[in-house]
Amino acid sequence: MADCELIFLGTGGGRFAMITQARRTGGIRLSGYLEAQLDPGPGALVYSTMANLNPSSVSLLLVSHCHLDHYSDAEVFIEAMTRGMTKRRRTLIAPKSVLRGHEGSWPCLSSYHLGMPKRVLEANPGDSFEVEGIRVVATRARHTDPHTVGFRFEFPFGTLAYTSDTEYFEGMESDYRGSKVLIICVLRPRGERWPGHMTTDGALRLAGAVRPELAILTDFGMKMLRAGPAGEAKWIEEETGIRTIAAYDGMRVRMGDRGIELARGTLDGFIG
Ligand SMILES: [Zn+2]
Repeated sequence: MADCELIFLGTGGGRFAMITQARRTGGIRLSGYLEAQLDPGPGALVYSTMANLNPSSVSLLLVSHCHLDHYSDAEVFIEAMTRGMTKRRRTLIAPKSVLRGHEGSWPCLSSYHLGMPKRVLEANPGDSFEVEGIRVVATRARHTDPHTVGFRFEFPFGTLAYTSDTEYFEGMESDYRGSKVLIICVLRPRGERWPGHMTTDGALRLAGAVRPELAILTDFGMKMLRAGPAGEAKWIEEETGIRTIAAYDGMRVRMGDRGIELARGTLDGFIG
């Protein structure tokens, strides 16, 4: 049986949700068919350890862009993945801003750490990589870090996609077409337009066009948390007919040969 479990180590996004930890900001761990850590923000190490997920088992680390809520724990994961910096192994995928910096910013990760994964792959939109027996494709994003990418993981049992931070833009659905599970980073609720960031209105358009079997909203900012992510997800589901849920800290979703299963989280995080 082949399957991949997604563990939401955090579901908060943006500066204030991160600083206050109104929601955790540990990103998403993939386990099973692929051992990967996606966007290790503050808390990724601690909450993966609490969830009995060994950071040393991670074979693929993905950082979508150079914002602290998505990369802060990346260097710790590189140390874990490389047996405490003693063995060059494993893979890092990240865009230029993370690896080499960009205007007004600097590389997120030290050259010391960038020197240790066996493969460091720079991701530009449209690039695809063969990693651990699957294809990972970088998708387009429009965000305040102009080099931001999302990711598509093409498993034999279906495609999992993650938008990262981006605003909705015309045509973006073509990067996600055919996805079975679509994870959308939704910083703000409907009616709260914020250039460079997704609102529930944009998520509705995206989910409605891609028509995945399951849409998962995550990466909530403070305004989204105040509005209530579960209600926003319900609205998308009612409008589009696409099964849509709001992630909560510790939530687990399994996708595989038997379809998609939801399980309650084992962490003591916020449920709602
Ligand atoms: Zn960001």
